[in-house]
Amino acid sequence: MVFYAKGFTYCNFILYNSSMNIPNTEKPRIVVIGGGFAGISFIRKLKNIQAQVVLFDRNNYHTFQPLLYQVSTAGLEPDSIAYPLRKIFRKHDDFHFRMAEVEGIDTESNTVKTTVGELSYDYLVIATGTRTNYFGNTSIETHSMPMKNVPQALNIRSLMLQNIEKADISDDPEERKCLLNFVIAGAGPTGVELAGALAEFRKSILKNDYPFIEREDMQVHLVEGSERVLSPMSSFASEKAKRFLEAMGVKVHLNTLVKSYDGKTVSTVDGRTFEAATFIWAAGVTGAPVKGINGSALLEKQNRYKVNEFNLIEGYNNIYALGDIALMKTSAYPSGHPQVAQPAIQQGRRLATNITRALKGKEMKPFEYRDKGTMATIGRNKAVADIKKMHFGGAFAWLLWMVVHLFFLVGFRNRVVTFFNWTYNYINYDKAARLIIRPFRRP
Ligand SMILES: Cc1cc2nc3c(=O)[nH]c(=O)nc-3n(C[C@H](O)[C@H](O)[C@H](O)COP(=O)(O)OP(=O)(O)OC[C@H]3O[C@@H](n4cnc5c(N)ncnc54)[C@H](O)[C@@H]3O)c2cc1C
Repeated sequence: MVFYAKGFTYCNFILYNSSMNIPNTEKPRIVVIGGGFAGISFIRKLKNIQAQVVLFDRNNYHTFQPLLYQVSTAGLEPDSIAYPLRKIFRKHDDFHFRMAEVEGIDTESNTVKTTVGELSYDYLVIATGTRTNYFGNTSIETHSMPMKNVPQALNIRSLMLQNIEKADISDDPEERKCLLNFVIAGAGPTGVELAGALAEFRKSILKNDYPFIEREDMQVHLVEGSERVLSPMSSFASEKAKRFLEAMGVKVHLNTLVKSYDGKTVSTVDGRTFEAATFIWAAGVTGAPVKGINGSALLEKQNRYKVNEFNLIEGYNNIYALGDIALMKTSAYPSGHPQVAQPAIQQGRRLATNITRALKGKEMKPFEYRDKGTMATIGRNKAVADIKKMHFGGAFAWLLWMVVHLFFLVGFRNRVVTFFNWTYNYINYDKAARLIIRPFRRP
């Protein structure tokens, strides 16, 4: 039996909003934008709440961004680091996922506008993370390779392998050099991990797969604007990581700012040039806000929403921001928390507890960040870790890095597959995912 009403379809005694089939509800509706670390830890903790929860994400999967570089460098397949969002929450009652881009928010009518329709909310949680920051440089934006999501990581993998294939059949020494030159801008954890993985590719794969290419022909350059690599970490970690990289043959260029890239030549502010067919941009991110929130709630430059100690966005009483997009200034973190996974996870959990408390008429508790440490891996048996006041470098840090990353990967299958791949790669000095499934073509 089907009845039609204005804007709604009444079918099998459930009233549906016709635009996206979300059941109407008497319970409060919590709408979450973004199924990243913050969004999923928030919803996980809401499991038995008396509310309807709706999650929007432009992808139908959660991405474990810390391991994207392994997809880019053929160490892991993408399905090891991505996990279906619907599957994460399939045991949650009255939970609804819609794959959609949220295009705006109407804070007067408490409505989100998405590519699949509009939906009203009682509580809105914005956890949209960040996007690549090109600092307004259009030549870099047009020609460089970003690495912020799975398709971009696969683009890098394809381009890297395509360029090596081309170099293998080229007679022109200049062209060959350009094809085998890899330049990475930004020596934060992403740039360092990428550079290390490319150096390992050169060491263990190149000579076996491409006997006509000498190891020294493939060059990896890591270009950094500041005076050290891994600048958010301790000076012990920075120095150790630089030594590891150089020992692996990576050329590290500190105090060097990239000025432009035309698809062939990377030019630096101090007048140097690198001929390189692969230029990876890992030099910065900026918040990915959604239209409709009062502009004064956004911190200029960083594009992060200013939030109070309950993650409530300045000027609103039912709109929260979590994770990378949230800027909570505290005495310990006067410029906001670092844009890494732990603050996002911890804020998500705290807000879930707070909203549950609020629905029961209890007071919310302020968020307090517990710093569990920072790590970066450079290569086989080589990583650095700052944990509280302790600093580690080498095989122990590398083991720790692997355990922590396996633990936080979403899904048992992904953990098993990743563990198996790492063990296989370690024993065989291999990176088995070196496949050009979808060739990269510059737009
Ligand atoms: C390459 C790389 C390596 C990293 N390595 C580490 C590391 O080693 N350790 C560490 O702690 N941190 C690392 N980080 C940082 C860490 O991944 C982030 O701090 C963390 O992901 C932030 O979580 P979040 O939930 O705020 O945002 P995200 O995880 O970025 O999630 C945002 C989600 O929102 C969705 N979204 C955005 N806008 C919209 C919209 N308008 N409509 C619908 N959906 C939308 C996105 O699709 C995404 O799923 C790394 C980041 C990158 C890019």
